[in-house]
Amino acid sequence: MEKNFNSFEMVQKQIDLVADILKLDSSTCQFLREPMREIHITIPVKMDNGQTKVFKGFRVQYNNARGPFKGGIRFHPEETIDTVRALAAWMTWKTALLDLPYGGGKGGVICNPKEMSDSEKERLSRGYIRELVEFIGPEKDIPAPDVYTDSKIIAWMMDEFSKIKGHNSFGVITGKPIELCGSLGRNDATARGGLYCVREAAKYLKIDLKNAKVTIQGFGNAGSYAAILYKEFFGEKIVAVSDSKGGIYSEKGFDPYQLVEFKKKNGSVIGFPGSSSITNEELLELDVDILLPSSLENVINEKNAKNIKAKIIGELANGPTTLEADEILHSKGIFVIPDFLCNAGGVTVSYFEWVQNITGYYWKLEEIHKKLDEKMTKAFYEVIDVYEKKKINPRMAAYVIAVSRVVDAMKIRGWV
Ligand code: GLU
Repeated sequence: MEKNFNSFEMVQKQIDLVADILKLDSSTCQFLREPMREIHITIPVKMDNGQTKVFKGFRVQYNNARGPFKGGIRFHPEETIDTVRALAAWMTWKTALLDLPYGGGKGGVICNPKEMSDSEKERLSRGYIRELVEFIGPEKDIPAPDVYTDSKIIAWMMDEFSKIKGHNSFGVITGKPIELCGSLGRNDATARGGLYCVREAAKYLKIDLKNAKVTIQGFGNAGSYAAILYKEFFGEKIVAVSDSKGGIYSEKGFDPYQLVEFKKKNGSVIGFPGSSSITNEELLELDVDILLPSSLENVINEKNAKNIKAKIIGELANGPTTLEADEILHSKGIFVIPDFLCNAGGVTVSYFEWVQNITGYYWKLEEIHKKLDEKMTKAFYEVIDVYEKKKINPRMAAYVIAVSRVVDAMKIRGWV
């Protein structure tokens, strides 16, 4: 993530662009440009050495015109309120585009979970929920995992909320472990949903995925599952992957299972036997068919967009491409599957989890996969329809659909 880049300023510019296309009045546009509410919290945590460390946290509740706020919580040392605002806005468009009965929100804590023990992370997670308890709930705001938060953290959060309320409240948060009323298929949902989109994009663009080469930038939840599923869905071949420490390349392609094992053991993909090392920058510019940015914001920008050679970019990360880069890629004929479509599989299965929690009836894995595929494919072709009719880039096409839905709900409710 480049220093000084402000994702929220980019979001506001994106909203201005779509407001122009949709001819929104200025008060509607003004409302969409700001979060409805944001909560700033301070969390004291007793560390293992006996000292208390004070952490800053946020929850941004961007818009709930279409349903309760929904979106993950990030633990990251470089978290800022503006990043959380941007991510909360993107959640609003994501749930609207997938037609889920939610609004958008996001949370974050400035911390480095890689340097914290499990018990420190548990105390931080519980502290975060204690401060937010009156603002969240199954009908109010439903958090979930995001960068550096996992099902273990989510379980502590659910437990803390339930203890305070005096009864189990499984529907307050999604991404829970299966043993605690989580949903089958939630773990790999972001990657799986993204690959359904890649499948459809390849069909649409008449690209044969059998002989395609793919690179995956980022090897966290989304990136590592994408590697495994890519091989399962399309066969060969993953020629390059990277994580926060750097990238690796192999002409003959990687075995994703071995990569995952190696990363688990060594904390990074760097040094994987038989690979040569490359920088994140070189990886983005490789001559491949598919590029899957799967880490953080602003990795594809005006500096490198002109050198990108992939035919399809499937944005598994949130906000990996800047506005300027979007235009460059579009003019080069590179098809970008925008983040709030491509990575919407996670929140879609979160929605399935919440429905299962509320009804108390749990679905089979095949049912989840089928429903996820239907939702993703439908949204993909809705975006294609607007993309073709309006001749705008795919991100703006997705924006047109999502923002129209949010604005319709606001108008019917009498907000604007
Ligand atoms: N953090 C994920 C996202 O950015 C999932 C959110 C959710 O499941 O609510 O879409």
